[in-house]
Amino acid sequence: ADHGDWTWDKGVCRFCGTGCGIQVATKGGKVVAVKGDPDHPVNRGLLCAKGYANAQILYGDDRLTRPLLRKRNGAFDKRGEFEPVSWDEALDVMAREWRRAYGALGPTGVGIMGSGQYTIMEGYAAVKLAKAGWRTNNIDPNARHCMASAVQGFMQTFGIDEPSGCYDDIELADTVVLWGANMAEMHPMLWARVVDERLRRPGYQVVNLTTYANRSSEAADVEIVIKPQSDLAIWNFIAREVIRRGAVDEAFVKEHCVFAAGPTDIGYGRRGEEKLAAAAARHWLVDRAAFEKALEPYTLEHTAELARGDPDEPLEAFQKKLAALADVYVDRARKVVSFWTMGFNQHTRGTWVNEQAYMVHLLTGKQARPGTGAFSLTGQPSACGTAREVGVFSHRLPADMLVDDAAHRAHAEELWSLPHGTLNPKPGAHIVQMLRDLEDGKLRWVWVQVTNPFQSSANANHWTHAAREKDCFIVVSDVYPSFSAKCADLILPSAMIFEKWGGYGNAERRTQLWRELVAPPGEARSDLWQLMEFSKRFKVAEVWGKQPVPGLEADGFEKGFLPDVTGAARALGHGPDATLHDVLFATPANRKVRWPDPVARKKANHTVVHAKLDWFPEKALFEEYARFGRGHGHDLAPFDVYHRDDVRGLRWPVVAGKETPWRFNGEHDPYVRRGARFDFYGPFAKKLPRGDLEDVTDPAPVPLPGKAKIFFRPWQPPPEAPDAEFDLWLCTGRVLEHWHSGTMTRRVPQLHSAVPEATLAMHPKDAEARGLAHGDLAWIASRRGKIRARVEIGGRNKVPRGLVYVPWFDEGVLVNALTLDATCPISKQTDFKKCAVKVSRG
Ligand code: SF4
Repeated sequence: ADHGDWTWDKGVCRFCGTGCGIQVATKGGKVVAVKGDPDHPVNRGLLCAKGYANAQILYGDDRLTRPLLRKRNGAFDKRGEFEPVSWDEALDVMAREWRRAYGALGPTGVGIMGSGQYTIMEGYAAVKLAKAGWRTNNIDPNARHCMASAVQGFMQTFGIDEPSGCYDDIELADTVVLWGANMAEMHPMLWARVVDERLRRPGYQVVNLTTYANRSSEAADVEIVIKPQSDLAIWNFIAREVIRRGAVDEAFVKEHCVFAAGPTDIGYGRRGEEKLAAAAARHWLVDRAAFEKALEPYTLEHTAELARGDPDEPLEAFQKKLAALADVYVDRARKVVSFWTMGFNQHTRGTWVNEQAYMVHLLTGKQARPGTGAFSLTGQPSACGTAREVGVFSHRLPADMLVDDAAHRAHAEELWSLPHGTLNPKPGAHIVQMLRDLEDGKLRWVWVQVTNPFQSSANANHWTHAAREKDCFIVVSDVYPSFSAKCADLILPSAMIFEKWGGYGNAERRTQLWRELVAPPGEARSDLWQLMEFSKRFKVAEVWGKQPVPGLEADGFEKGFLPDVTGAARALGHGPDATLHDVLFATPANRKVRWPDPVARKKANHTVVHAKLDWFPEKALFEEYARFGRGHGHDLAPFDVYHRDDVRGLRWPVVAGKETPWRFNGEHDPYVRRGARFDFYGPFAKKLPRGDLEDVTDPAPVPLPGKAKIFFRPWQPPPEAPDAEFDLWLCTGRVLEHWHSGTMTRRVPQLHSAVPEATLAMHPKDAEARGLAHGDLAWIASRRGKIRARVEIGGRNKVPRGLVYVPWFDEGVLVNALTLDATCPISKQTDFKKCAVKVSRG
């Protein structure tokens, strides 16, 4: 019920990458209610079970309200117990430990593990502090576990990141194919639109391609249960059918595409194999005949042998389903959207399988047209808007730029008014590598923000042990005492979503901003405040001085750089005692950005956190960041536009006040060359040499203006598969009711009681063979660890014989103690969907 004394404002859901709009009611300094925003184009007034919990997640009993430091005898001690300390003491100890690590190891000895749940401004500030301030590229988001393969798929195929289509495609399509995307639980409000359309429109078709029957199967016309890793073969089978049955859109391919291939001996990104992985992204042009020849082995029979996931399904029936799937893409008149999420991205060939989706859509001309396209759905609320667009990845800068590209660094330095040579040219450690480096003593100081890496990373036992036993300092900023917080040396209490100004970017490139509506509890502070406050503890002369940078050979870097540090600070409008805060955040330009008018200011309640500031950091940093993307295919609207009452976010590029629903399409995208119907203009498409399927034969690079690449990628076996001892596949994932590691949603009584613990989904015959029944406790063991969980038979996930499923939201059932930390060597994303385990009575 509404109440006359509630104040409503628009907001964004804190949880998934769908990006639903909500209305938030406040009264007396508290959020008292949320409801779906009826004017929002994504969710049209509805929310899922998590969405309605956006208020309750703020008010769990054990909300962190004070910094906590491990102490003994009044001083920091890694073996001590957590004690409350002041912010000053917390940040001073943190800075002292940073200096110890940086002094011993240089820029690679410190790092930040960030997040696709950072607000845009927080992510931008973290990137600027690490990359420009500390000259380290050791900052990487949890999106490495989530979207990194999608990023590389986009960059390799189009030269620019993020989908060409948008959610409108759901209603415009004739068929929706889910490839490793259980939308019913992971993107429920988008799924509601799919189901609505299916019920409303005869002929609308839904195909669920998956390794186990799940809730999305309930509304699917066709369910295809496949063997883990066989998606690579299935795409090649479909491409072969498209060619064999004359369904190539010849004009589209001729005008807008080229064919490409790369090395196949790329191994897996495992400890000690980093060098092997380094060349994995190399690729070259091939001719069409070579491409077609490479597809030849992927016949229906061969593919069905590789791909049948349910041993109880007759092979012939499975073959029929594969053939029907190919029909969907072969049918020229049928508009098809292929959605995927973690089933593709969390894959040791994640980049390849992303490229293969584009392969089929480009061959058939079903890309960049309304109602058609290969569409990667994002997991987190700002995996796109922050982790990707802002450049939180260890190899990136804002707007898809790369740290190892001299021109990109120079452009960033210019926009940041930094002297030439400031930025470190060597990509930093990705998040999996950071964990390995922690164990190996190469990384001694880590700041974890808005993520829970010790629960969410594969092979977790190694990293939790390293955090507590190695000579390292772990800082965790969080809102509740998460599993990672318990592994930390220092815990910093953070503000949550409506306790700060913020912005997220969802999976369809929709950027949405919200106002600060209530004060955070106790001494909790926003992650932006924490980053800025910490930056005050570094004098420019200290960090930008003659600091040797181990292992770097780039000119001017190894020698120590910016010798005229005071001159550099002066150029930025500051004196010799300038701090990183002065030159990175409180720049003269940013200090001119004022708070909103007094009415909005009162409404926003913002005076709590930035009480003493006469400038508006969130707006200043958003506008500063937006300069990277404007004129570059990533244009954002001005900050104030997103706060207008009639705006519900805008899909970039936003040019002349107009958003872009479909990119690369001349009718919709302002970046398409005048007169062209399509133009794959990705600014980083660059040039490629030519070769055959084996390697480069003509190294002279050929320019590729406006072209997308159709890659051939082969099927290859995964790095680990069931064998005589570890005889079952393990797949991990999420559940509708819980967000990621459960730190927020497990504090919501309704959500917690709906799914109180993670269970082990088993096939009844596999359970029976091990003497197990529904509800029994079972041991699950892999080569890396052993956990216990309760057996579930016939629940929402009905697994085939030979496969078990455990969600990862429950720290009491730490399933990542079992998973394998091998990564896709191109994207460096871990495969959480397949490793080998055995199950026995608990
Ligand atoms: Fe929030 Fe995602 Fe649910 Fe929408 S679908 S309400 S964004 S959790």
